[in-house]
Amino acid sequence: MNVATEFKARKVIAVTHGEATSDGAGVKMTRLIGSGAQPPIDPFLMLDFFGSERAGDYIGGFPDHPHRGFETVTYMLAGRMRHSDNHGHSGVIDAGDVQWMKAGRGLIHSEMPEQDHGLMRGFQLWINLPASEKMSPPAYQEFKAAQMPVEEREGARVKIIAGAGTAGLIGPVRAPHVDATYLDVELAPGGAFRQPLPAGHQAFFVLYDGEAAAPGDAGPQLFQALSLLALGEGEEATLTGGPAGARALLLAARPLREPIAWSGPFVMNTRQELIQAYEDYRQGKF
Ligand code: MN
Repeated sequence: MNVATEFKARKVIAVTHGEATSDGAGVKMTRLIGSGAQPPIDPFLMLDFFGSERAGDYIGGFPDHPHRGFETVTYMLAGRMRHSDNHGHSGVIDAGDVQWMKAGRGLIHSEMPEQDHGLMRGFQLWINLPASEKMSPPAYQEFKAAQMPVEEREGARVKIIAGAGTAGLIGPVRAPHVDATYLDVELAPGGAFRQPLPAGHQAFFVLYDGEAAAPGDAGPQLFQALSLLALGEGEEATLTGGPAGARALLLAARPLREPIAWSGPFVMNTRQELIQAYEDYRQGKF
């Protein structure tokens, strides 16, 4: 006998709109996670959204700086960013490309605009590493836009950066420590998107273009870009495009539930490990 199953939708439990800030050499951005408005959502430490057509807002870029103890994920929507590290790794991240960098025990790198005019738009996400991986060798996963599968669903076009879609497609990024899901979803007007997610994974949408509706305690509610919609427990994430459609990221991952000791570009488990990070950096061990 066939029994229709209704998946339990994850409801929106918090809505935030980020905090205007600047980082690097004066790059203007909105900090969606990792500010007073929205603390980390374990294992996601920080999420920055940058988007401007004014070169002055981004031209300074992010000159040489260190990282230790986590991963940075850069996803460009428009424009180009050149990165270069002190281990000889460099390249350009173009519109639609993803760079997933495991900083591990440490590196020093720069992230600079590869353009002096026009729109630059994208996200940088910081994902924590478990204690066992914080001192591992740095590593990169880099994918061009064309290397990431796109699922054409009814009412939604879903680019799969990490994790699995619903039609058997899997994103190229491997994130075994937290089993991350990273999807970029384009919703048609009124288009409905549904995505099953593992139980226990933290999850949120970043609505970055248009309007979209998501379920809340009092039924569906319409939200506008720019919004971060933190989701509660349930079986699937759902989002429905507004009258002009919408674009949103869906992110999910298994929380690490480990102590966090965080200072600037270093995220460790204890204060002693932070002191060690500064000491190693000073001694040129990165
Ligand atoms: Mn960096």
